[in-house]
Amino acid sequence: MNPNSDENLNWHGEKMIEAAAEALKKNNFTVHLAAGSAEAVEKLLSLIEIKDRVACGGSRTIKQIGILEALEKRGQITAGSRPFKTPAESLESRRNSLLADVFMASPNAVTLDGKLMFLESIGNRTGGMAFGPGRVIAVLGFNKIVSSVESGWERIRFHSAPVNAKRLNLSTPCAKTGICADCSSEQRICNIEMVLRKKPKHTKYDIILINEDLGY
Ligand code: SF4
Repeated sequence: MNPNSDENLNWHGEKMIEAAAEALKKNNFTVHLAAGSAEAVEKLLSLIEIKDRVACGGSRTIKQIGILEALEKRGQITAGSRPFKTPAESLESRRNSLLADVFMASPNAVTLDGKLMFLESIGNRTGGMAFGPGRVIAVLGFNKIVSSVESGWERIRFHSAPVNAKRLNLSTPCAKTGICADCSSEQRICNIEMVLRKKPKHTKYDIILINEDLGY
């Protein structure tokens, strides 16, 4: 069942997902389609083995779909999914996550010609999504599909970054005004830009495209 209540939005989401999926496959990614979060969780559970050490990069989408709870029910605690007690613990967990069996995260955008786009502050998510973990699984809703790299950066700068800064309660101009000021704040989250043009050479890569509005 598709969770969107409007049939026209469902139709458009499906069309965007079909187009992005075809392009991603041409760029050597393995692609799975899901009508909603429940189907995405089923797919993730089939891709992740019980013995796997799982980690995730900070992701609203991963939290929203309910995969962390589903893994916990199987006895698998996902590294990086809980608040850290100290900065040192946070750093250590982020380093260890780069060598997990499975690393899950959500890109900030995917283009209709099959490129994955990321913006972040620290580098643990972009690092894990490029090289290190045994398998990478990118999970994203249809709302992150954009027509080009240029429109992807626009989406990220004018939408994803300010909303994430607000979510994280940061002292940045965008967290107050909702608009990027290309700040020099210590808490700036826009330090690293990454575009995956093709599947990274030595990484097993699955992408789950969900016909649901998820994350930022
Ligand atoms: S550069 Fe600064 S103001 Fe702009 S989105 Fe990033 S954190 Fe916010």
